[in-house]
Amino acid sequence: MPNDRDSGDHKKNLGFATRMSHGGRAGVKIHGFVNPPVHRGSTVLYPDAEARRDGGAKRFERYMTYGTAGGPTHYALEDVIADIEGGTRCTIVGTGLAAVTVPLTAYLKNGDHCLIPDSCYGPARNFATTLMKDWGIDTTFYDPCVDEAGMAALIRPNTKVVYLESPGSHTFEVQDVPVLARAAHARGCKVLMDNTWGIHNFQPFEHGVDVSIQALTKYVGGHSDILLGSITTNSEEDHRAIRSAASTLGHYASPDDCWLALRGVRTMAMRLKAQEAASLEVATWLEQQPQVKRVLHPALPSHPQHALYKRDFTGGCSLFGVILDPQYDQGGMFRFVNALQLFGIGASWGGFESLALPTSGFITRTAGSGDFGGPMLRLHIGLEDTKDLIADLAQGLRVLN
Ligand SMILES: *Cc1c(COP(=O)(O)O)cnc(C)c1O
Repeated sequence: MPNDRDSGDHKKNLGFATRMSHGGRAGVKIHGFVNPPVHRGSTVLYPDAEARRDGGAKRFERYMTYGTAGGPTHYALEDVIADIEGGTRCTIVGTGLAAVTVPLTAYLKNGDHCLIPDSCYGPARNFATTLMKDWGIDTTFYDPCVDEAGMAALIRPNTKVVYLESPGSHTFEVQDVPVLARAAHARGCKVLMDNTWGIHNFQPFEHGVDVSIQALTKYVGGHSDILLGSITTNSEEDHRAIRSAASTLGHYASPDDCWLALRGVRTMAMRLKAQEAASLEVATWLEQQPQVKRVLHPALPSHPQHALYKRDFTGGCSLFGVILDPQYDQGGMFRFVNALQLFGIGASWGGFESLALPTSGFITRTAGSGDFGGPMLRLHIGLEDTKDLIADLAQGLRVLN
C-alpha cells in the first residue's frame, strides 16, 4: 500500500519540511493522486441501522455521523496541524478567533475566573469583556511578563483557566510558559495558549500547555485567501472537551478552506524560513535608523525576553513591532505608513505580501501602560526581495525628516 509510506513511526525522526511534505496524506489519497481531494458533504450514510445506535461508522480512524464533525479533508489537515504542534488530536474551526473562543467556552462556566495576558489578541479581550462577562465569568488581564510567584498570587480558588499568548499581539512580550504553566497546574487550572506566532517553532506541549490555539489564517494558509483556526490537544480528555464545545456551538470549517490550508502546509517550512530571515534583515536595518526608537522582534538580541526566546523557540516568523522616536506623533507615523509603496495597510499576516499596520492608539492595555514610548506600528515581511522592502522603508522614513 503506497499510502503506508505517509504514516507510521518513522515520522517523528523526520525534519519539519519533510513532515510538511508528507503529512496528512495517508488514507485519503484517491486513485494514486498525491493530494487528498476536497470532500464536501452534510449527510454521511450509516452502513446499517445498528451503526446509528453505535455512534456512526468508523472510517478514516474516526466515527463519522454527520458533516459537522468534519470529513476526510478536515482529518488530513487535523493530522498535519497536530503534528506541527506535537499534540495528539486537533479540531479545525472556521476562524482563528473561533479557535480562541471555543476552548474558553469549554473550560469556563458561570462563577469561574480566567487569567488572560494584557498583550492578548484584541478580539480575545473583547470576548472576555463582553460574552464571558455576561455569562458571569470574571477575567483578570495580567502583565504577560509576570513571574511564577506573581502568577500564583493572581490565581483565585475559582480560577479555572490560565490563558497565554507568546509573544503578545502587537507588543511581542515573550512569556515564561513552562513556569507559568507549572504555577497554573499546581492550582488545578487548565493552560490555554494562542501559539499563532510560534507555529512549529514553539512546541506548546513540551512546555506545559494543555490546549494550543492557532489562526491557520496566517502562515499555514500563507496566501491571504482563507480564514481558519485550529485547536490542538495532547490528551483524549481535552480533545473530547474541545470537540464537545465546538459541536455544541455548531462550529464548522469549509473543506475547500481546509484543502487550501493543506496546500499552504506544503510550502510553509520554506516560506517561514525565508520570511524569518528577511524579517531579521529588515528589523536589524530598522534598529539602526535614527527615526526608530525600538524594534520589537523576539529574535533580536535587543529584545527584553530574547533569552527566553532562545531557550524555548527554535525559530521565529516575520511579524514584529516598530516604535518610532517619540518626537513623531501619531500623525508622523501615519505619514510614514502612507508613504510606503510595497507595504499594504492591513491586519492579517502570514501571507506572501508585506504589511504595515498602525498599532498604538488602536490597542487596549489595562494591566500595564498603553504608552509604548513612541508611536508604534507592526510590520509583516512577505516574500518580496528584501532590498526592495528596505528601500521602501528608507524612502518612507525620509518623509519624517
Ligand atoms: C489573527 C489572529 C487570530 C485570529 O485569527 P482569524 O482567523 O483572523 O480569526 C488569533 N490570534 C492571533 C494571535 C492572531 O494574530
